[in-house]
This record gives sequence, structure tokens and C-alpha cells, in this order.
Amino acid sequence: ELANRMAERGADLVKALFKMGMPVTVNQPIDQDTAELLVTEFGHNIKRVSDSDVDIDASEDVDATETLLPRPPVVTIMGHVDHGKTSLLDALRGTDVVAGEAGGITQHIGAYQVTVKSGEKITFLDTPGHEAFTEMRQRGANVTDIVVLVVAADDGLRPQTIEAINHTKAAGVPMIVAINKMDKPEANPKKVREDLLQYEVIVEEMSGDVQDVEVSAMKRTGLDDLIEKILLQAELLDLKANPDRAAEGNVIEAKLDKGRGPVATVLVRRGTLRVGDIFVIGAESGKVRALIDDKGRSVKEAQPSTPVEVLGMSGTPGAGDQLSVVENESRAREVAAYRAGVIQQKRTTATPANLESMFSALRERQAMEYPVVVKADTQGSVEAIVGALNKISTDDIKVRILHSGVGGITESDVVLASASRAPIIGFNVRPNAKAREIAHQDKVALKYYDVIYHLTDEIRAGMAGQLGPEA
Ligand code: GDP
Repeated sequence: ELANRMAERGADLVKALFKMGMPVTVNQPIDQDTAELLVTEFGHNIKRVSDSDVDIDASEDVDATETLLPRPPVVTIMGHVDHGKTSLLDALRGTDVVAGEAGGITQHIGAYQVTVKSGEKITFLDTPGHEAFTEMRQRGANVTDIVVLVVAADDGLRPQTIEAINHTKAAGVPMIVAINKMDKPEANPKKVREDLLQYEVIVEEMSGDVQDVEVSAMKRTGLDDLIEKILLQAELLDLKANPDRAAEGNVIEAKLDKGRGPVATVLVRRGTLRVGDIFVIGAESGKVRALIDDKGRSVKEAQPSTPVEVLGMSGTPGAGDQLSVVENESRAREVAAYRAGVIQQKRTTATPANLESMFSALRERQAMEYPVVVKADTQGSVEAIVGALNKISTDDIKVRILHSGVGGITESDVVLASASRAPIIGFNVRPNAKAREIAHQDKVALKYYDVIYHLTDEIRAGMAGQLGPEA
């Protein structure tokens, strides 16, 4: 198809792709960056036919400033297992001043909204954990505005705390540290603050700009303080959305309910979603039959940053999928069909497999940063590799270490790498079966080494390639 449009031979394109390190067949879909690169290679001009002709892409059309109104922040809680994420979510839920009077029954729909004393609202995603967070991001759904990092004061920083820090940083989302379990006699918040320095999380008490707060989810202390800090952070972010337009949102979770059919919890991002609206959700379409809020009440509409269960779709969408309200049913079917094609293509699309072609793809995005995930067999190796990689960074291009750690390559490493299109460097370590499977699916490059200078040589060569002959 691409060869046709350029009036070139398909075989020549395949050959060129081979040279770029992408073994593809003539009828295999390629991604947009690669296609653009290829077109340029062949000396043709690129004319992008915008997706928005067919699809409604959230990022494409921007609302005029005067239509924007403040919206509540969307918060995700992350941290090590057993540090109290679930307890904190429950405790925060208990601070809702309208829950009681509404008389509704608490529903776990994947997210909930609390109204605090001042009348302001905060939305919490109640699937804790960085995998859910990064998986959403990987699907293009950056729904989280603020991360609350929970650290148990009696246990300190643990591996998943560090992973959570790295996932948050990679996403560029601001963080608030909640030092939990302050009721315990062995609580040592000072140590937590000091240890965070090592990961460049400098809290206010250490003269940094990351807000921190001491809480006890069990005794329900410090919650008002935490809420105040979330609201302060939200104010700094100046979160706004246009409530007065066709609604758009993202699926937080979805299921097939025995009685009700496919049900999706949607977080409205902009516009107002109403009963009767015709919509596309992922590759499914439908008409809003009912909207149920997090207190189990049937509601007529949902405003930006509000999570609601949506009933009335043709099939079950996936987490992160986008909901868009459209003007009529035939349009809904057209967009759904188009998206089904894109989703299919994403599954089968070949992406660059070697460092050189990855650098070419990066050049297209003009990102002079080379993200990597590093896993090694010992702490000594990790430090040596990180040091060596930092040393080969130049003024023009920097190696950016998204995450480094001791141990085999895990699912979480792959999800993180995939979200930033980074390769994973394994030094004397290998992935587990699940990680390998996801890496294969998501086309994440896994590179294994057992000699450090082989590793640095290969990356340095790739960097030189990216900068071109004049560098
Ligand atoms: P999660 O795995 O991070 O979701 O952690 P949970 O919320 O399930 O909490 C793990 C354990 O820590 C549970 O036994 C909780 O009762 C306990 N826990 C959570 N918060 C506190 C707290 O503030 N103080 C004390 N003493 N225990 C807590």
C-alpha cells in the first residue's frame, strides 16, 4: 500500500526495512514513525492524512481557553505491598462529606470521588499499584494527575516503592509522599525522608519541593493534611476541562456482567456524558442506557474527572480505551470499525528491533534522550552499568535510566519499558516467562550482555548513528 502510493516497488521497501533492522513481509503493517522514515529515505514528501478525519482522537482538537473550567484532580496511590495503599484508599473514602447523606451503598467501580469539607472534589483510582498505572499510560491514557506514594514508616523504602518512584517519574506526574503507619511505635519517618534522597525525591522537610505528610490509615490521622496537599498540588497544576462539549473519557475497568451485559467504568476527561448519548468505546459502540456513580446511584450525567459506570455498549472494551460521544449511530459504527482496524494493526505492527533503527525512530521524535531499563545480577553490576551508561552520555544525547535493579526481568520492567519505548538491558539475567511473553507482544527489545564494554559499545554506536555524520 505504501509502495503503491510512492510508486515504488514493494520489494525495495522490504529491502530498505531489512537494512533498518526490521525483517518484515510485504503485507505486514508498519507503524507511523517507520513509515515516515521510509518515505523520507525514498526521497518522497510526507503528507499525513490525519486520523481525525475518521477517528476522534482526544489529543487532536484542543478546547478554547475560555471554555475551560476547573476540574477535580485524579489521584493514584502507589507503594510497596502491605504499606497500606488499600487501607489509605478506604480511609480517604471515609472522609467524603456527602456519602452518608446520599444514603448510597459504596460500590467498587475502580474509582471513586470524595467531596471534602471545603466542597472541593478529588477523584481516586482505586486500583492501587504501578502496573495498572503504567499499563494505562502505555495505552495512551494518562489519566492520573497526582501520585500519592505510600511508604510505611516502620518498613521504609522497599523494591516496589522504588519501582513506583520510577514509574511516576517516567510519566512526569507530580508525587506526594504519604508516610503511613505513624501509629506504630517503631515508625521512623526521618529515615524514610533521608532514604528518598537517594532516589532524588527531596521532600519539603529536606528543603525539596516534594510534599510529604505523616498519616495513619488505621487511626485515620493526617488525612486532612494529605487532602490539603493534594488540593494544593492540584491548584499548582491548574487542572481544567471544557464540560460543555461531546464527552470523552477513558475506561478504568470493564467487565461482562451477567444481568447487565457489558459494563465499563469510565473516567470522563472532558465534556459531559449523558444518558442517551451515542458513543464509541475502544472498538465497541453503544448508546448510554444508564450511568451509575460510585455510590450506586443512577445519575443523568457525569462531568469531567467523574468516574461512572456506563451501561449500553455492544461489547466489553479494554482498560485505557477511549470513549468518545459522537453525533449518530452510523458515525459510531464507522469510528468503531476504524478503531478495530487500528487495534488489529497495533497488535501486528512491526517496530524497530535493533538499536540503530530505534535511534532513527527517536530522531523522528527529536528526543535526544535514550531511555533504558537496566536489570543485573548484583548491586555491584547495576552500579557499574548505570555509571558506565551515564558516562557515555554527551551534551547532545543522554542515556536516561528509567529503572534499574537487581534480579531477573519482570512483567513490571517490561510494562515500564514499553510505555516509554525503551529497550531492557539484562546483565547476566533473563526475563521470566510472563515478562518474555509481554515483551514479545509489545515488541519490547530485550538485550542481554555479560561484558559491560560490549553493552556500552553497542549503545555508543547507536548514539553516534542518531547524531548523524556531522556530529
Ligand atoms: P496494601 O497492600 O498496600 O494495599 O496494604 P493494606 O492496606 O492491605 O495494609 C497492609 C497491612 O497494614 C494491613 O494489615 C493493614 O491493617 C495494615 N495497616 C495499613 N495502614 C496501617 C496504619 O496506618 N497503621 C497500622 N498499624 N497498620 C496499618
